[in-house]
Amino acid sequence: MIRKLIDRILKRKSPRAAVRGKPVSYRGSEHGVHVADVSDAAMRTCRALQQGGFKAYIVGGGVRDLMLGLVPKDFDVATDATPDQVRALIRRSRVIGRRFQIVHAMFGRETIEVSTFRAIQDDAQTDEHGRVLRDNVWGTQAEDAARRDFTINALYYDPVTDTVLDYHRGVRDLEQRTLRMIGDPATRYREDPVRMLRVARFSAKLGFKVEPKTRKPIAELAGLLHNVPAARLFDEMLKLLLSGHAMACLQELRREGLHHGLLPMLDLILEQPDGERFVTAALAATDARIQADKPTSPGFLFATLLWEPVRQRWQGGIARGEHTIPALSAAIDSVLDEQAERIAIQRRFIADMREIWMLQPRFERRTGRSPHALVAHLRFRAAWDFLMLRCQCGEMAPELGDWWAAFAAADDDEREAMLARTPAPASSAGGAKKRRRRGGARRSGANGDAPAPPAAAAKPDA
Ligand code: ATP
Ligand code: MG
Repeated sequence: MIRKLIDRILKRKSPRAAVRGKPVSYRGSEHGVHVADVSDAAMRTCRALQQGGFKAYIVGGGVRDLMLGLVPKDFDVATDATPDQVRALIRRSRVIGRRFQIVHAMFGRETIEVSTFRAIQDDAQTDEHGRVLRDNVWGTQAEDAARRDFTINALYYDPVTDTVLDYHRGVRDLEQRTLRMIGDPATRYREDPVRMLRVARFSAKLGFKVEPKTRKPIAELAGLLHNVPAARLFDEMLKLLLSGHAMACLQELRREGLHHGLLPMLDLILEQPDGERFVTAALAATDARIQADKPTSPGFLFATLLWEPVRQRWQGGIARGEHTIPALSAAIDSVLDEQAERIAIQRRFIADMREIWMLQPRFERRTGRSPHALVAHLRFRAAWDFLMLRCQCGEMAPELGDWWAAFAAADDDEREAMLARTPAPASSAGGAKKRRRRGGARRSGANGDAPAPPAAAAKPDA
C-alpha cells in the first residue's frame, strides 16, 4: 500500500524541487506515516518546542521506519532551539555531552534525544585523512539535512502538521529500496569512516541495495576504520550486532571487505571455522530474540563472540596440568586484556561476560549443594542460555543442558531425586573432547534476562 502511495506522490512531485535548501514536502496521506504510530513522548517533545516558537521534527530512523511500515526503535527530534532553550521548554530534560551537546527529554519511561540543527563546516577541523574532529556548530535545517549520512535518513516529519520534508530525495530512495549516501561518498567516508559500517548495517537490516557510487569507494577506504577511536567503533558494532539482523550485517561486512584486519573480534570470528559455528548459533538466537521484541544483553553477546579463544586457552591451561577454575580465569584474563587494547568493551559488560564464563564449569558439578546454589545464582539464566549454545554446537552433551532445565523447574523433592541418581559427567572440562551434534537445531538459547528456564525441555537423566 505504501508503494502505491509513494508511486502516486512521485508522479506528482518534480524531483527537481529537491534542490539543496528547498525540500519537497509531503502532507497527510501523501507520505504514508500514521501519526498514531508516533510515540507520545516524541509528539509531546515536538509540540512543546513548537509552542515555544521553534521548529521541531522527528528525524532519522524514526521517520524512515514509519514510512517503511516498520516499528521504529526510538524517535530522535531535531530542532532549531539550542540545548538551553530545549531545557527551558521541557521540564524533565537534561543536557548530555560536552562537545556534541544534545538534550534528553524524558516522558514517563521514554527518552527522546533532541539535537539542534548542525551546520556543515567548510573549515572543519580534520585529521590528516579528512576525518572531521569537531562538528558542533549550529546551522540551518537544510545544512542539518546535508550532513546526515543517507538520503533515507534525512527525512523530517512534523507530527503536529503531519508533514514530511525531503531534502535529498529520500522518498524516491525508500521507494526504490536504495541506500544512497548524501554528497560525495568518498568524502563522506573520509569525514567519518564509521559510515562504511553503517552501509553494511542499513543495507542488511532493511534489505536495500547499495547504490553503486555509494559502494565503490569502500574497498579502497576500508583501512580508514583504523583511525576511529575504539569507543566509537564499539558503539557502532553494538548497534550492528543488536540490529536484529546481525548475521546479515556480518555477511555484508565481509562482502565489503570491512571485517578484515579492522575489527579484530570479527576477524577472529569469521576466520575461525570452529568459532564460527558457535557465533553463528549465538547471533541467530540474538536476532530471533530482537525480532520477537525480547530483551538482549550485550554482555551475553560479547561472551559468545569471544568464547572460542577463551575456550581454547582454557583447554590449553588444562592440558598443561592447571586446575579447571584457575585455568579458565587465566584464559579469560588473557583474552580480555588482548581485546581491551583494540575494542573498548564497556566495563559493566565485561563483568557480565566474566560471570557467564566462570559459571560454565559449575554446570558439570551435579552433586551435593552445588547445583542448588547454581540455580539460585542471579546469572543462572544467562549462564544456562550460554550452556545451551555450547550444547547446540556439540561442545557439550545436549543432555547436560536439558538436565539443568529440568532441575531448575523441579520442586525440592524432585531435585533431591535427580541428585540421588547422580548422573555421570556429561563432558570433560572445557569441552576438550568434541561431541557430535545430535538431532539438528534444538531450542535456541536466549540472552539472559528472563526469569526461569522453560519447564523441563527433556526428561532428567535416567
Ligand atoms: P536505527 O533505527 O538503527 O537507530 P537511525 O537511522 O536512527 O537507525 P542512528 O545511529 O540512531 O540511526 O542515527 C540517527 C540519525 O543520525 C541517522 O538517521 C542519521 O540521519 C544521523 N547519523 C547518525 N550517524 C551518522 C553519521 N555517522 N554520519 C552522518 N549522519 C549520521
Ligand atoms: Mg536511531
